[in-house]
Amino acid sequence: MIKGKLFVISAPSGAGKTTLLRRVMADITGLTFSISHTTRSPRPGERDGTDYHFFNREQFMAMIEDKMFLEYAEVHDNLYGTSVDAVGLQLQQGLDVILDIDVQGAEILRKIGQPEAIFIFIAPPDLGELESRLRRRGTESEETIQLRLKNAQTEMRAAAGYDYLIINDVLETAEKVLSGIILAERAKAHRLPSGKAMGELFI
Ligand code: ADP
Ligand code: 5GP
Repeated sequence: MIKGKLFVISAPSGAGKTTLLRRVMADITGLTFSISHTTRSPRPGERDGTDYHFFNREQFMAMIEDKMFLEYAEVHDNLYGTSVDAVGLQLQQGLDVILDIDVQGAEILRKIGQPEAIFIFIAPPDLGELESRLRRRGTESEETIQLRLKNAQTEMRAAAGYDYLIINDVLETAEKVLSGIILAERAKAHRLPSGKAMGELFI
């Protein structure tokens, strides 16, 4: 069986990553989302176990102690992490897994050797539009908006280290590009079981 692929997706907060991922995941089968753990409070409408596993710092630190995270990082003053359980089983089942993680988490995954992972960065058209989107979403305090905008400038510098860059200007166009990347990566010939050459499959 073909093992699933990891798609690592990062973006400055407000770039539209969640919106894009919801649309693409509704459209492409065999894709699952890794549900992270976080110490941030739920936003209105967010559900525990669906959007995130919402943990307090003590619970999160206990998971770190127990080495339950594939990666974790402090982002915008909160802890976020991907548990080993959130991805392992699904990959084994041949599902492709989307990891929505920040630039620090992506760097950790590169370092610990996830050579087959595909790294995709989603950027807003410019910082002014990023600020408008964060404000329009209406989920953050003024202080948090300012922190996220400040961090966006550092995060943007990491974009060059990714395999793909998508500018989310017109939503429908960005959605097509993201879907196209996922489908093209799936179609790569080296994904044949145990590296067999195409001809061998027919003998
Ligand atoms: P992120 O997950 O990257 O923090 P969201 O998906 O929550 O961002 O999007 C932030 C806000 O911007 C939301 O209100 C969303 O509806 C809006 N948005 C997303 N993509 C676009 C786009 N291409 N054009 C205009 N608004 C967008
Ligand atoms: P938000 O609070 O807006 O949901 O997410 C804030 C940031 O945390 C985003 O950049 C998001 O990608 C990142 N994030 C979410 N889950 C994880 C995770 O498991 N690990 C890391 N490193 N970052 C995460």
